[in-house]
Amino acid sequence: MSKKVVAIVGRPNVGKSTLFNALIGSNVAIVKDTPGVTRDRIYGEIDWAGRELVLIDTGGIEPKTDDYMLQRMREQALAAIELSDVILFITDVRQGVVDTDFRVADIIRKSNKKVVLVVNKVDSFEKYMPDVYEFYNLGIGEPYPVSSRGKLGLGDMLDKVVEDMPLLDNDENSEDEIPKIAVIGKPNVGKSSLINLLLNEERLIVSDIAGTTRDAIDSSVRYDKKEYLFIDTAGLRRKSKVKDDIERYSNFRTVASVKRSDVAVLLIDATEGITEQDAKIAGIVHEDGKGLIVAVNKWDAVEKDNSSVNKFTKDIERVLSFAPYAVVLFISVKTGQRVTKLFSLIDTVLDNCKMRVPTGVLNEVLSDAVAAVEPPHDKGRALRIYYMTQVAISPPTFVVFVNDKELMHFSYERYLENRLRDAFSFKGTSIRIITRSKKEEN
Ligand code: GDP
Ligand code: GDP
Repeated sequence: MSKKVVAIVGRPNVGKSTLFNALIGSNVAIVKDTPGVTRDRIYGEIDWAGRELVLIDTGGIEPKTDDYMLQRMREQALAAIELSDVILFITDVRQGVVDTDFRVADIIRKSNKKVVLVVNKVDSFEKYMPDVYEFYNLGIGEPYPVSSRGKLGLGDMLDKVVEDMPLLDNDENSEDEIPKIAVIGKPNVGKSSLINLLLNEERLIVSDIAGTTRDAIDSSVRYDKKEYLFIDTAGLRRKSKVKDDIERYSNFRTVASVKRSDVAVLLIDATEGITEQDAKIAGIVHEDGKGLIVAVNKWDAVEKDNSSVNKFTKDIERVLSFAPYAVVLFISVKTGQRVTKLFSLIDTVLDNCKMRVPTGVLNEVLSDAVAAVEPPHDKGRALRIYYMTQVAISPPTFVVFVNDKELMHFSYERYLENRLRDAFSFKGTSIRIITRSKKEEN
């Protein structure tokens, strides 16, 4: 079920961003009301041959004019390599194989990740194919000629990327999968401290998963006879040395971690209160439709009275108004207060993310909702709602069939969402509602 992360890596100007845009095209889903995430978009999703891929454009996190270019390129390439399932290594046929390509190849070869070598700017196969063979010298394997600008060769390249990936099965066997948890938040909120506590807590039996490079960056924690996988904990404990890049770099890490997770635990610092930066990070989770728990950490360090929890919760609701479903917990990693409560919250949120509502029950709620508040109309034409059915979980996704979807209003969709939330326990998960016209019944 899980999405595979594909990192687009290579030296500057080989066409990484152009390739990324050619692949993503109009697939970039921009969710309204989500702050920050649309600005420096460096990731996007595509489906190819029954697999879901998350593409990360490392060109987007690479400063274009800088003396430290190489050093930074190395740093971002390393992060991308560590976090991805497949690496698309991009080169440029017009420039041929250059020294920097060999250096990038060395870095990539040391990982045990699958690599697809891409030779870009092959705008004409006839003209440039002879030059493509030279790229065998990189020792990375077969070069795939593409033109990102002309959109040539992209299908063969993607076939190679997904070649040995399992097909997505729509069965429910994802239910037995170990829950994957991303611990996210801005610097210094206590993410590493939390992970260390979870890994050292006496009652928790720790089993570090050995094996592939991928697994080594995650930590398995057993609590109350259940296993949980905390994502990218190695990255939490080892912090970026390149100061200017920290924000974008950690954004990149956050995105990759969230993509791989089922539930995100967003830590915020109680001594600072909730900030716009926290909202941006929550926006990543919201946009990806993952479970969201907001853990207010350092609760030991604030002066409290009877109204503190209430006031804090209100602030969170205001700043995270796009994600009113977020579950809030007040913890202290320092004293251990309520930290183990996280596990039962994670369980609850996971259940809610995976909840399936039978169509019959759903339509009872729908008809009550429609009876209570009339659907919108426009120029004498009323929206008629036929029925609703759940088409997906994680996040729960509903399709509403109507006479004409143009008549649906955002506010009415919001209203339906709220009624679903009142009727069923969707705490911690976003809900998606898709409106479709069903003309034949008109
Ligand atoms: P990045 O630094 O690796 O992300 O490279 P960019 O995507 O910014 O591209 C660098 C330059 O190469 C730009 O001028 C692109 O228009 C050009 N370019 C990218 N792909 C192709 C291609 O397939 N054919 C040609 N002729 N030019 C390309
Ligand atoms: P990260 O950057 O999010 O990984 O944050 P760290 O785990 O490195 O923690 C940043 C600082 O906050 C460290 O000095 C921690 O000791 C401190 N800290 C973490 N959790 C708590 C807490 O619950 N209470 C207090 N008072 N300090 C904490």
